[in-house]
Amino acid sequence: MILVRTLFSTALCCLVFFCAAFLATPAFAQPPAANEMPSVIQVPAEAQPSPHFDATAATDAYLAQIPADKKARSDAYFEGGYWLILWDFLYGVVIALLLLNLRWSAHMRDLAERLTHFKPVHTFVYWLQYVVVATIFGFPLSVYEDYFREHKYGLATQTFGPWMGDQLKELGVNLVLGGVLMMLLVGIVRRLPRTWWIWGAVVTAMFLIFTVLIAPVYIVPIFNKVTPLNDPKIVDPILSLARANGIPARNVYTMDASKQTTRMSANVSGFANTMRITLNDNLLRRGSPEEIQAVMGHEMGHYVLNHVYKFIMFFLIVTVLAFAYLRRSLDWTLERWGEKWRIRGIGDTAVLPLVVLLVSILGFVATPIMNTFIRTQEYEADMYGLNTSRQPDGFAQGAIHLGEYRKMNPGPIEEWIFFDHPSGRNRIYASMRWKAENLKLFTAPPTGEVQAPVQSTESSAPPRPAVNVEKK
Ligand SMILES: [Zn+2]
Repeated sequence: MILVRTLFSTALCCLVFFCAAFLATPAFAQPPAANEMPSVIQVPAEAQPSPHFDATAATDAYLAQIPADKKARSDAYFEGGYWLILWDFLYGVVIALLLLNLRWSAHMRDLAERLTHFKPVHTFVYWLQYVVVATIFGFPLSVYEDYFREHKYGLATQTFGPWMGDQLKELGVNLVLGGVLMMLLVGIVRRLPRTWWIWGAVVTAMFLIFTVLIAPVYIVPIFNKVTPLNDPKIVDPILSLARANGIPARNVYTMDASKQTTRMSANVSGFANTMRITLNDNLLRRGSPEEIQAVMGHEMGHYVLNHVYKFIMFFLIVTVLAFAYLRRSLDWTLERWGEKWRIRGIGDTAVLPLVVLLVSILGFVATPIMNTFIRTQEYEADMYGLNTSRQPDGFAQGAIHLGEYRKMNPGPIEEWIFFDHPSGRNRIYASMRWKAENLKLFTAPPTGEVQAPVQSTESSAPPRPAVNVEKK
């Protein structure tokens, strides 16, 4: 799937706006799985409200709850992911160069042309061949990365058969959606030889909006069962939180993600009328009420802060730049090697492996920029979530669960390059900093006594200016 992913990774990754991802154990797991982080039911002493509350000490106390072996395992998994970015890229480059230099791409085009003279169908037939060949070539890395490696780290729950079934479904989605996009883009390139790169970017962005719109209703259900959540103990506080934040949600949905993974997650998906908040079943089973509220506050942050719309705008700008780069780089490469590869020009479908190659180079280089854009939105959603849920300890607990497959404490440059969410340490620190500034919410007045107003404790002190008098 590597090449297919390379071309559509950006678009398809945005189908569902995955964000707060957390991890759970399979229902039958006893004792806890090797990678399972502690569930922090007890707030550590340093994070208890006190006059000496210190955000850094509280953060360290939370981090100290993670056993050394689990930290090492999670670091190894996450750091291995850095290398996979490189291997995926290089592997994709090799496949593209093979398809071009062996002239397989040209042969696939010739075959499509022999079958039909109707150009859009010709494009689609080429696309079918391309996706199948690219999927077969990409399979060894895909099976290692998404099946064996996930199982090795205790993150996957599927046996090989159902996993393959999901891969075939994904292939089907790629064939249909990718085929439609490719027919549109090839048509634009042929009709508008001078301005195709602008219109191509606009159509690609529109296509993204369309895919995001239909994803919750037509794509997610292909892989998972989505049902409205009915348990009032969970739904009522979430809907109350939604009403308080002006979100017109009537339903909260749940998804049987445990079919594929042990990761806990929640997401805001869809666009306009199909926008919805979904909790996966792993989060429901393992998250404490405080943690679930913190995660929901974060998700609502994405909604209220219009992150989906902002992402689409960002995507449009990136796509225009990418198409401008494509125009230049395609001209340059085709002039040099077009004849050798038997590619007639940019309107020729056989150019696809070259497009994939050039886009993957750009994508590889732009990884830190994409990550930083998304991470910045995630940080905003974290701040919103803290303010609205008022559950800093639930948030810290979530960050620790997330640490089952994300490095908790990276260096700043490492975080900038590789993290699409704030690191666990930064998330816990932000929660504890929020708690430090809102300690009064957590200190209950001693029983039998009425808490004295702030100014009366200072009756012997000179009167303060009115602006300093704290109001409840
Ligand atoms: Zn998020």
